[in-house]
Amino acid sequence: MQFEVIAKCHTTRARVSRMNLTHGVTMLPTFMPVATQAAIKGLTPQQVEALGVTLILNNTYHLNLRPGMKVLNQAGGAHKFQGWHRNLLTDSGGFQLVSLSKFTTITEEGALFLSPFTGEPTMLTPEESISIQHSIGADIIMQLDDVVSSLTTGPRVAEAMERSVRWLDRCIKYHEGSGKKSTQNLFAIVQGGLDPHLRHQCLDAMIQRKNDISGYAIGGLSGGEEKDVFWRIIKLCADKLPEDRPRYSMGIGFAEGRNFLLHLLVCVALGVDMADCVFPTRTARFGVALTHAGPLNLKLSKHEADMNPIDKSCPCPTCTDGTSRAYLHHIVTHETAAAHAVTIHNITFQAQVMGGARDAILSGTFPEYLRSFFAGYFGDGGYPEWCVNALRSVGVDLLQDHPVNLIPGSGAKWEYAN
Ligand SMILES: [Zn+2]
Repeated sequence: MQFEVIAKCHTTRARVSRMNLTHGVTMLPTFMPVATQAAIKGLTPQQVEALGVTLILNNTYHLNLRPGMKVLNQAGGAHKFQGWHRNLLTDSGGFQLVSLSKFTTITEEGALFLSPFTGEPTMLTPEESISIQHSIGADIIMQLDDVVSSLTTGPRVAEAMERSVRWLDRCIKYHEGSGKKSTQNLFAIVQGGLDPHLRHQCLDAMIQRKNDISGYAIGGLSGGEEKDVFWRIIKLCADKLPEDRPRYSMGIGFAEGRNFLLHLLVCVALGVDMADCVFPTRTARFGVALTHAGPLNLKLSKHEADMNPIDKSCPCPTCTDGTSRAYLHHIVTHETAAAHAVTIHNITFQAQVMGGARDAILSGTFPEYLRSFFAGYFGDGGYPEWCVNALRSVGVDLLQDHPVNLIPGSGAKWEYAN
């Protein structure tokens, strides 16, 4: 991996960088669409590539179960299997294992679980996780970590953090001996729950191993914790992580629905370079288009005779071909064509938001970009207080020139207003 920071925001911690991987250049900060089963739901890989997406995410746990490593090895890896020519990131499988299997037992050796297909006990060790990711052939691979929910308290949090460091060492060792180091890049995952002391300990240990690590992820968040705690942990980690490594915030805004966009922009301002979320593609299938004025629920009858496109200024094929809101309202959630059309729009919208952020960082106008994004997205409906607090911590006052009410908590009150 070649990683180069090109520009830094003068106010916030945001930065623009160029990450050169085996399958080309990805400019950061970026948002990664999620292709759990080696497919972005609703789109072909050619369509995704044509939209300018350069990095997507596949799930190791799912691909290991189906089609399985034998088929992936025969195909020559997941890139060839799914016809994807650009960069690919895989998770380690640990998160799915813990969240999907009721019967997972964590031991020092690895995670023992019952296969959902055969019911047989199966052990996922750190070495096995890296081996599977080698077969998949992703450009970025993740260490196996010991995952606990962000709401877990007590000694289990420290145990999981310390084990994640030990498992990182096993992943590094296995990866070193594999001959895959020149084409696949290993990322560490910082754990430590919501405890700043544990996070610092984990960061210290993982930063010591920097020479064996291509990048860092911040894990163990977005599990229902208070938003004011969420951003403080992101900030603590992003502040301490090395400048010369990409920083990936995992699964942000997973449970936040429409507010995930705010998580994304706040994380960028705090110094995060990469993030993933299933929301833009998932919500598209339920008939919700993302726009700068907030999400647009195409199922609502107010769109039934609206001949405007989703967004007149959007460059996506759906909007430029003149597909009307009325037509989308007519077919949405009934016809697969609607899922295609809205997914294309949402992925483009997401790429535009991140591209706009990169341009603003490059031109020194990122604070203005944030203020205008929030003003457009919320209007006078009030801002989530945690966003205002988080951005104040890096020198941006959202309320400057736009005094509105603050919505305490997650900002969820606003969520269903549109
Ligand atoms: Zn569009």
